[in-house]
Amino acid sequence: MARVLTGIQSSGRPHLGNILGAIVPAIELIKQNKEESFIFIADLHSLTSSKNGELRKENTLAVAAAWLAFGLDIDKTVFYRQSRRPEVAELTWYLSCFTPFPMLANAHSFKDKSERLADVNAGLFTYPVLMASDILLYSADLVPVGKDQMQHLEMTRDIASTFNRIMEEEILTIPEARIDEVVKTIPGTDGQKMSKSYNNYIDIFLPEKQLKKNVNSIITDSTPLEEPKDPDTCNVYKLYSLIATEEQTQEMRGKYQGGNYGYGHAKKEFMELILDKYSKERELFNYYMEHPEEVEKKLSAGEEKAKSVGEPILEKIRTKLGFR
Ligand code: ATP
Ligand code: MG
Repeated sequence: MARVLTGIQSSGRPHLGNILGAIVPAIELIKQNKEESFIFIADLHSLTSSKNGELRKENTLAVAAAWLAFGLDIDKTVFYRQSRRPEVAELTWYLSCFTPFPMLANAHSFKDKSERLADVNAGLFTYPVLMASDILLYSADLVPVGKDQMQHLEMTRDIASTFNRIMEEEILTIPEARIDEVVKTIPGTDGQKMSKSYNNYIDIFLPEKQLKKNVNSIITDSTPLEEPKDPDTCNVYKLYSLIATEEQTQEMRGKYQGGNYGYGHAKKEFMELILDKYSKERELFNYYMEHPEEVEKKLSAGEEKAKSVGEPILEKIRTKLGFR
């Protein structure tokens, strides 16, 4: 069976886009998989956007808690922090030297982020090489990611093929992306891609009062209450339909088209659905946030296992490159 690997940055709190785009599909895949899967917290990647160490630690815990709250099976998973396996930084340097500059310059995610973020650093530019190292260091075959990461996965495949071709040996495993086509890209409160670093996200783990504020921040148009509304252009409806049943979605659709149904009503229903649907996960998340020592134990065990897999692969690369 294939080795599954995926990661989430600790650049902010884990959000609905991460959950629907990455956590839930990966956990499903791990359930069906016989081989051990690799799930990591991309804290090195998070340095591209966030420089606050205390906050990173807190976010790292929150991302870990989110995976555990959604039922990640630790016995079938190597669960670890990216930074605790520094081999990945070494591999990033090697692979950088096999990565054509124009390929990175054409990355959508870099273009998008460099337009939106004030801090456009070289790490943001070489982000896809670090991601390639994450995947190739552990010879992963399958990488479940959201649609926004498709191009980065293509780059990983390109870098690995180039490396193998130049080295005249199949040293690196060429991974496959696994994209959940139903989920696609989850929109944020402003209709753009929901992102930790854009501050446009829905955080389903917030206490009720703050969650209400969060849901209320979803941007809507100014159609008056009495008038019918177009569900297909509404951010609230889009988000609601992603977690609601078919029946609930149709019902809300009818209300939008009927008139006398305001965005405030839709937001309230969305919030109630979050509280109802994710009640167990919210409780577990809080539990892990309050018991960081338990999370630490699980991660440390994963970091030892990750080393035992990554180190021999890296040693082979070092030897091939003449560093041994
Ligand atoms: P950042 O803003 O720092 O890039 P992010 O919110 O985009 O953070 P990542 O850590 O980059 O989150 O991505 C983690 C996983 O979540 C990836 O598999 C990514 O494809 C998925 N993901 C992120 N945002 C979305 C989204 N809006 N819709 C679907 N999947 C998403
Ligand atoms: Mg991202």
